[in-house]
Amino acid sequence: MSKLSSRKPKSKKKKVSVRVSDYYKIDGDKLIRKNQFCTRCGPGVFMADMFDRYVCGKCGFTVFKKQPTRKSHK
Ligand SMILES: [Zn+2]
Repeated sequence: MSKLSSRKPKSKKKKVSVRVSDYYKIDGDKLIRKNQFCTRCGPGVFMADMFDRYVCGKCGFTVFKKQPTRKSHK
């Protein structure tokens, strides 16, 4: 019997629906930021303000300021 399995393996990626709209308000084709927090890491983790996108320095999550027209997306 191995004791190596005492550590519980992290469950796979939690299915997190990224609700960008919680952080960004899309006005026409403008993206207005409410917060600059990473949607993955959660509140508290700021994202770097790049010229055309925000990049989380922790997980690398990128949010583009300009979003293409949304197609019907499930
Ligand atoms: Zn992040």
